[in-house]
Amino acid sequence: MGIMVGEKGAMMAHIDRYAVFGHPINHTKSPRIHQIFAEQTGQALEYTAQDVPAEQFESAVARFFTEGGKGLNCTLPLKELAWNYATNKTERAQLSKAVNTLAVQPDGSVLGDNTDGKGLVTDLLANHKISLSGIRILILGAGGGARGIIAPILEQCPKTLVIANRTVEKAVKLAAEFHGKGFITGCGFEALEYQQFDLILNATSASLSGKLPPLPIGLLATNGSCYDLAYGNELTAFVRWGIENQALKSLDGLGMLVEQAAEAFFIWRGIRPETQAVIELLNSERQNG
Ligand code: NDP
Repeated sequence: MGIMVGEKGAMMAHIDRYAVFGHPINHTKSPRIHQIFAEQTGQALEYTAQDVPAEQFESAVARFFTEGGKGLNCTLPLKELAWNYATNKTERAQLSKAVNTLAVQPDGSVLGDNTDGKGLVTDLLANHKISLSGIRILILGAGGGARGIIAPILEQCPKTLVIANRTVEKAVKLAAEFHGKGFITGCGFEALEYQQFDLILNATSASLSGKLPPLPIGLLATNGSCYDLAYGNELTAFVRWGIENQALKSLDGLGMLVEQAAEAFFIWRGIRPETQAVIELLNSERQNG
């Protein structure tokens, strides 16, 4: 928080402003999460949600920063546009070609980062004790969400990583971008027949409309787990699929959401909030309707 001098010289307190842009954005939990982080860490800030369609992205971001905004989260379908917008990018954002966090730097330039992968891996490893090393992992989807999680997953040294997507060329191209960083291939859903995985991550937006990609029987290995990057108050279609297919754990992306938000908060404020209590609170709120 800083002090601003108003038109008539009066001293006025001003508050640092942040926001999440996306389309649609009405169900976002990000403002609530950042409000809890701010209270927990004693930071004064404002965090709002704005519905911004892709064609208005550039002008909306420019306006937000011109009016003094300090940082933005960008969600579906804006992450690739945010990557283009950022003046400088962190290494993980460079690799993923998708940005979910923009931060104004002291020199006025805009830094782009991607905290999704860190958020997912922290949720899997620390919160759910699912180790990724030496296992067979499948990612469904090849959009902005998938892009952000590939490099952090490969850093954990899985045995194999397969990207399967409805538009096959996108999966093949995406996997090719990461060749040399691990054993990774891209394919269509029909090529999954007779394959088995220890962890299946759903990074399609199909869940948002209650749909599922076509998945063959036997795809999930015994004692394998499922993780839907999407989340909601009800079980998502993919979390239900995991349960029906005897997954050891079938989880949704609420933990990832909180963990990626904590990483963004750290980038903006230099303080790392405590996430466990926030995940528990949001979980209990949705269980109570
Ligand atoms: P994008 O719009 O960038 O990509 C969407 C992907 O879903 C594409 O691969 C698309 O395939 C595929 N898809 C859409 N509809 C269907 C369908 N009916 N059947 C099969 N595939 C389909 O979205 P994002 O990657 O940004 O987001 C994907 C999901 O991940 C969303 O649910 C989002 O909420 C979630 N997410 C959650 C996060 C969290 O913190 N928990 C963080 C990031 C994402 P095609 O290429 O063929 O169009």
